[in-house]
Amino acid sequence: MAHIIDGKLISDTIKTEIATSVKGLLDKGLRAPHLAAVIAGDDGAALSYVSSIEKQCKGVGFMSSVYHLSPNITEEEFLATIDFLNNDDEIDGYIIQMPLPKQISIDKVTAHVSPAKDMDCFHPENMGNLLLGKECYLPATPHGVIELIQRSGIETSGKNCVIVGRSNIVGKPLSMLMLQKSINATVTVCHSRTENLPQVCRRADILIVAIGQPEMITAEYVKEGATVIDVGIHRLDAPDQPKGYRLCGDVKFDEVSQICGAITPTPGGTGAMTTACLLQNTLTARMKKM
Ligand code: NDP
Repeated sequence: MAHIIDGKLISDTIKTEIATSVKGLLDKGLRAPHLAAVIAGDDGAALSYVSSIEKQCKGVGFMSSVYHLSPNITEEEFLATIDFLNNDDEIDGYIIQMPLPKQISIDKVTAHVSPAKDMDCFHPENMGNLLLGKECYLPATPHGVIELIQRSGIETSGKNCVIVGRSNIVGKPLSMLMLQKSINATVTVCHSRTENLPQVCRRADILIVAIGQPEMITAEYVKEGATVIDVGIHRLDAPDQPKGYRLCGDVKFDEVSQICGAITPTPGGTGAMTTACLLQNTLTARMKKM
């Protein structure tokens, strides 16, 4: 049975580190970091993510604000909210929660965000800096994956890393991070058109999966002893379960954990890390103002 990489434990450690830094600020009579979230509409998953961010901000001693806008808001009004957040010195950073209503252009909104307050690293300037290996806010989910790997003591230098998924929020930025000179992995990025996917995945010492396909990655895709990081998260109907559903990832955990060396569970793996890394970015933004 593989070593289970405990994302909850590692994210709790990061949050304790953040809380200690916040206490240091408050002890000096300085303001705590302040993270804002903008959400338009009533998507259940988005609302519950934002409410979990608020709770976790409180847990580390941050201030938080939620701008819950109407799903009918005009693009002009939405951009005016972003302008307000860009200009408010008391807000260190913010996130814009997806999905956005149809009438609002994601590209326009992203370009409007101040790179200094872009806690999700969506702005082209931050993405460009990430590509160039320059200092920038790191996108939360990919950063969480890196933290999980590094804090678990998994060797990356010279290792074959296969990332399945090339989205702008997970796969692509993760590939850039795994290539950085501090990490030194040899990176392959796969997608829906990749041929012989199981064979390519079996070359991986570190297999990272972000495809949005419940339990697609079976033992056939995994080399014995590999590290498997599962970014996917799904809620599947399960009438026999007390809640009527169960959570799972993109990896068939029960099967893959029998042959790999280390693996993240779902829940309790990468999900918990995303918010911890978002809080870390907000702390960095606050510290930059000192
Ligand atoms: P996207 O749908 O944006 O991207 C999915 C990627 O997977 C695409 O590149 C797609 O290829 C590829 N893909 C889809 N099906 C296959 C297949 N059968 N074989 C090979 N490649 C495939 O998803 P995201 O990156 O946004 O999210 C991925 C998963 O991670 C989801 O389950 C999501 O819920 C989860 N997630 C978890 C987070 C966390 O905090 N843990 C945060 C963000 C996401 P192509 O480009 O060719 O279409």
